[in-house]
Amino acid sequence: MCAGLGRNMFRPTGARMRAPGQIKMLQPVAIAQKQLADYASLSSRGLIEEIRARAERLRGKRVLHLSATAFGGGVAEILNTIVPLMIDVGLECEWQVIYGREEFFNATKVLHNSLQGNPTTLSEEQWATWLRYNEINAAQLSDGWDVCIVHDPQPAAVCSLVPENARLWVWRCHIDLSTPNALTLERLLPYLTPYQAAVFHLGAYVPAGMDGRAHVIPPAIDPLAPKNMAFSLEDAVYICGQFGIDIDRPLMCQVSRFDPWKDPLGVIDAYRIVKESQPDVQLALVGSMATDDPEGWDYFNATVAHADGDPDIHILNNFSSVGAIEVNAFQSYSDVLVQKSIREGFGLTVTEAMWKGRPVVAGAVGGIPLQLSDGKSGFLVDGVGECAERALEILRDPPLGKQLGRAGKETVRQKFLMPRLLRDWLELFEGHEV
Ligand code: UDP
Repeated sequence: MCAGLGRNMFRPTGARMRAPGQIKMLQPVAIAQKQLADYASLSSRGLIEEIRARAERLRGKRVLHLSATAFGGGVAEILNTIVPLMIDVGLECEWQVIYGREEFFNATKVLHNSLQGNPTTLSEEQWATWLRYNEINAAQLSDGWDVCIVHDPQPAAVCSLVPENARLWVWRCHIDLSTPNALTLERLLPYLTPYQAAVFHLGAYVPAGMDGRAHVIPPAIDPLAPKNMAFSLEDAVYICGQFGIDIDRPLMCQVSRFDPWKDPLGVIDAYRIVKESQPDVQLALVGSMATDDPEGWDYFNATVAHADGDPDIHILNNFSSVGAIEVNAFQSYSDVLVQKSIREGFGLTVTEAMWKGRPVVAGAVGGIPLQLSDGKSGFLVDGVGECAERALEILRDPPLGKQLGRAGKETVRQKFLMPRLLRDWLELFEGHEV
């Protein structure tokens, strides 16, 4: 997930940025209202009852989620639903976004990339910047929390700075820690030591030194959010048509940030191979430009350059009004959804695509193989050639696409919807005797 990225740009309370100490710069995020009952018909039998029973034992507990951004990327996506659901089942739950300026987010971007395996680590100055902003935020954190869940590395030092402010501290890691830059991880680990629990998407991401404090809990999607709610094919066709897609010709699509790990250039190369055999194929690259990603625009421009003016390649972003509904439309309508990632924390876009019942061709990296069973609920691929081959196979055999899509949807229903994630959190709280 998009960790390491994130900037306190979204200010739901409308507060202006002032000098530290003058106002509260930890920003509370406005929480939508959601009801667990609305998810009953989409959840497996017994799950909703189990959640209610667990939640009853935790009624009134004060839970804080602390993250780097309220907008864009997987973390915000999850918190936008899990926080309202925690409130609905009786917890006193809040979400606050940390304060940071460009220098901080430049440092945390390096931290993020480095923890995902990039050889470049932070300079001494960047570590100092990271710590300084953590201190500013820690100084503003109120006390009396039963649980404080700190998301990703940006605010990770806060626990070590004000451990007395919460009874249970949990570090929620959303990134791929399977092959981290050892220097960076070594430097981060002392700040993780005071946490009583840490949560990872996969067992493979648990670093040494967690000493039995690690929990493995995969993320989930909200089937009722605008991004994932059921959409008629006609509406999806209409929306895609508005963006210049020829609705009478096949469409490959990748929804992702413009980021080297998501390999949009590789997707273009795969599309070009497909086009040799299927000249009418089109490609849509749909990617939100995180205001918090300093490299995003460079990579977006590199992607546009790589497309080289091909009129059948549609490169769209949130600045061309691609929001949740449009992402839903592209995911619901495309003939093949590609997620050609080279590194991936979990890959919520894969979950979302599978939930739409569309066939997915995705890199066999990070959390993707956990979701997608090769040949049953999509195809796992390694490299441009394989990606093109599998996409073509699906385009040539629509019943195969339908079959893969149906199986994918069922997997998501059973394993990756929000009520299951809520249950797992409650179970963790109970396990730590909150
Ligand atoms: N996303 C979006 N618009 C875009 C691109 C991505 O809303 O143009 C969403 C996407 O639907 C998913 C999240 O951002 O919910 C990305 O999560 P993922 O785990 O796939 O990757 P991350 O960006 O966190 O690395």
